[in-house]
This record gives sequence, C-alpha cells and structure tokens, in this order.
Amino acid sequence: MTYKEAITYGTDKLSGAGIAEAAIDAWLLLEHRTGLSRSAYFLHGAEEMPQEQWEIYHADIERRSRRIPLQHITGVQEFMGLTFRVNEHVLIPRQDTECLVEEAMQYLQSECEVLDMCTGSGCIIVSLAEEAKKNKLKNAVFTGVDLSREALDVAEENAKNLNAEVSFLQSDLFENVKGTFDMIVSNPPYIRTDVIEGLQAEVKLHDPFIALDGKADGLYFYRGIVNESRRYLKAKGRLLFEIGCDQGKAVSELMEKAGFSDIVVKKDLAGLDRVVIGVYNC
Ligand code: GLN
Repeated sequence: MTYKEAITYGTDKLSGAGIAEAAIDAWLLLEHRTGLSRSAYFLHGAEEMPQEQWEIYHADIERRSRRIPLQHITGVQEFMGLTFRVNEHVLIPRQDTECLVEEAMQYLQSECEVLDMCTGSGCIIVSLAEEAKKNKLKNAVFTGVDLSREALDVAEENAKNLNAEVSFLQSDLFENVKGTFDMIVSNPPYIRTDVIEGLQAEVKLHDPFIALDGKADGLYFYRGIVNESRRYLKAKGRLLFEIGCDQGKAVSELMEKAGFSDIVVKKDLAGLDRVVIGVYNC
C-alpha cells in the first residue's frame, strides 16, 4: 500500500460513511500517523507505506468512519493558535469560541482576576493566560472552574503543556468559588435538550452531553451564572458569555434584569450573534 493509495482508500471509506470532508480527514489522519508534510507527501506519495503505519492508519479510518470525531483520534485541537489536548470528557474547542476569547482579551490588565466558568478543556482561560503572558501582565490571575473532574484533568494538562499559569477548581457553578473577579467568562452548555438529538453524530454522541445540554430552553446555565456572578464580580466587573446564535436577546435581557449595564451582543466571523458582554455596577 502506497501513501497515495492509503489516501484514496481512506477518502472512499469516509465518504461512504457519509463524512462530508472525507478527503481532508483522510489526509489529516495520514499526516498525524506518518508525520509526512504536504510537500513530503507529493515527493514520496508513490512509495510503500511501512506496514505498521498502514495498520494504525487503517484502524483510525475505521474509527472515523464510525463518526468518532477526528480530534478524538488525533487527541488534539488547535485553538487561538495553540494546541490543546482533548478527549471524550471535554467539548472540542470550536472556532466560534475564539470570538469570546478575542473580546475578553481587550479587558485584560495587570492585577486583573479572571474566572472561566465551565472551563472544559481550559481552552478559554489558558488562551487568556497566554495572552497576558505575552503582554507581560505578570499579576493577572486566572482560574478555571468545572463540575467534571475528568474535564479538569484535561484542562490542567493543557495549562501545563502550554506553560500557562492557571488554577483549576472543581465546583458546581459557584458553589466552591471564593473571592471576587474583574472578569467572568463562560461558554456554558447552551443547546436546548430537544435540539441535541438532531445534531451531527460526532457532536451528539461524542461531545459530553453535560457540555452541550442547556436544558429545556437552553438558558439554564445563563440564568444561574448571571444571578450568582453578581456576588463574585468586583464593582464594574465584566461578564462575558458565548451564546447560541439565537440567544442574544434572551441572554441580554437576563443580564439587564440582574443589574448589568453596557450590554452588547457581538457577532462571530459568520455574522451570527456569538458573544454577550455586560458590566456589573453594584
Ligand atoms: N457551540 C457548541 C456547538 O455548537 C455548543 C457549545 C455549548 O453548548 N456551549 O456544538
């Protein structure tokens, strides 16, 4: 089996399984297992692939054709230009969420204390800590919170791999959180329970259900975080949420009712509502 034949095999197998980006996924799996760059592939594509590489690649294609996400096979996802480890215990970082991080970055200052509620893989808080490091904000303090111990294990590993100074805390929302913060960021579970069944298999079956499920109206965690965050924000502290594209109005209203001001909804690169920001005044 040559590298080229392996790509053709993988692409056919994945497209037969209904995977839209079959050729891309076949290439990424080959690249992951062989370490071949695109240019090395063009030079050596017609050469025989070592048997053991073929066997691993073949098994990867088999797993991907069962709709296991590519990132669960490679074990990594790029986010904000950083490589994060992922597994079945965390939501795979989405590009949409970079929009939340980019907004939050604007409010980083030295001495600022930042909390990430529902941190999952830690991609948001680790990216913010990295940005603070880049800007020499030495006294900024970063904390990530999650209910899931397994998720926190992944987040801790990511912070360690990237040399980011972040503390992690296991807590059911704010239950074990102490202190006050200049900024609270969160990408909570926000999908309505009845919508989850209709999502693609990779998401529905392989992202953790508790990282997706926003309960009956999708707003369960926004309600809890908006209300409780008031006790954990300093005067003029900011609350920033990622939202589903149809939740801008509802989340803005929740924040307004809870005493937040300067509420703005920001759009993602696709032009969809993606982030809500508000300032707490009391
Ligand atoms: N944005 C994710 C998705 O579309 C959901 C993440 C969440 O619920 N916070 O699958």
